Amino acid sequence: MRVLITGGAGFIGSHLADHLLRLGDEIWAVDDLSTGSIENIEHLKTNRLYHYQIGSIMDGPTIAELVDRCDVIFHLAAAVGVRLIIESPVRTIETNIRGTEIVLNLAAKKRKLVVLASTSEVYGKSNKVPFSEDDDLVIGPPVRGRWSYACSKAIDEFLGLAYWKEKKLPVIVVRFFNTVGPRQTGRYGMVLPTFVRQALAGEPITVFGDGTQSRCFGYVGDVVQALGKLVRTEAAVGQVFNIGNNDEVSINELAERVKKITGSHSPIVHKPYSKAYEEGFEDMPRRVPSVDKIHKLVGYRPRTSLNEIIRMVADFERARMARSGKSGNDTQIRWGAEPDESVEFESSSIPKAISPTGHA
Ligand code: UDP
Repeated sequence: MRVLITGGAGFIGSHLADHLLRLGDEIWAVDDLSTGSIENIEHLKTNRLYHYQIGSIMDGPTIAELVDRCDVIFHLAAAVGVRLIIESPVRTIETNIRGTEIVLNLAAKKRKLVVLASTSEVYGKSNKVPFSEDDDLVIGPPVRGRWSYACSKAIDEFLGLAYWKEKKLPVIVVRFFNTVGPRQTGRYGMVLPTFVRQALAGEPITVFGDGTQSRCFGYVGDVVQALGKLVRTEAAVGQVFNIGNNDEVSINELAERVKKITGSHSPIVHKPYSKAYEEGFEDMPRRVPSVDKIHKLVGYRPRTSLNEIIRMVADFERARMARSGKSGNDTQIRWGAEPDESVEFESSSIPKAISPTGHA
């Protein structure tokens, strides 16, 4: 397959390229490096099946040319990260809505399969766990900045599904649930790389709120394998899928585990949301995906445990700190064995490739 990845130098985009190249796909990546980084794709530059371009999804002519070359578009470029969303709400809304409009419009002209990246954030404050794809979205009021992200991504979903319904553009929507792994940056608020970096540097590990809120952390290596399967499965088109892990952990527990696995002496401290983000900030107490739908279709099961992920992230962060000359703490990380990279796909059927024009 010839694949375009928008946000290709980002955390998920770069892992997706690694995986698809292993499957023999040819990749074109585009990224404006606003939150992505060349460092993430440095190792791919010499691969003759990998091409990248620094550019914005807002740049129609550039994207049109790239869309032309590809069979499938993974639209991952977006403003993400709670800190970024709180600090730059205009950019979040504009990038996520206008950027997606441009990509869908161009893809529709050439009838190319589009995978739209969405987020578990769209479920908002719903307390009906686990979250299933057809559940109601319970989003807070516009005066609370955080919800602009959920709303912008929900609009992307509506628009993508509208293109499928009205123009027969093949679209698959995927909702990522706290995807984590090496290369993720903590700069925009993500908790795991932040905790690991704090632990390695011997700084306080900052738990926001009382730490009883919980999340389910999905390993990026598992997630990208699921994406590779979905685009080769015709029945996925026109559907929404949760992708993540359903193993739930409180943020207090996450802090404890990071501290233990890295062998850190950092204290664990609690910080009120009002100081961490802004006055009136609303967090979700729980966020658990149902992964039944994607399991039934492509046999996806998350396989990598949180402890394994923490070890890999710690390994990566320590190397990154060493490269940038910052020292972590002087305690030894207990390196774990690399987990088996393969996700368990239990579907026995061999998925057939989607013809980009097969849904006209
Ligand atoms: N969080 C935290 N300390 C941090 C960053 C985040 O305690 O330095 C908390 C945050 O309040 C939330 C959870 O960790 O309850 C997950 O945060 P993240 O921003 O990674 O993802 P999301 O809020 O989108 O689930």
